[in-house]
Amino acid sequence: MPIYEYRCSECGEEFELLVFGEKKITCVKCGSEDVVKKFSVFGMSGVDKPFAGSSGCSSCGSSGSACSSCG
Ligand SMILES: [Zn+2]
Repeated sequence: MPIYEYRCSECGEEFELLVFGEKKITCVKCGSEDVVKKFSVFGMSGVDKPFAGSSGCSSCGSSGSACSSCG
């Protein structure tokens, strides 16, 4: 789940929030809705899945997960 860092335009409070869907973000200090999203803490780089489409056929090097020539 994503954590976003926000800064309140009203009081300058900076805080992090877990964001679920389209939930309204309000300042944890003053309750203002005038907050600015700064950046995501997580999600900078995904973990590469070793077999996500780039493996191909190990025998002939053909792209695609199912190589009919080599099995
Ligand atoms: Zn505030």
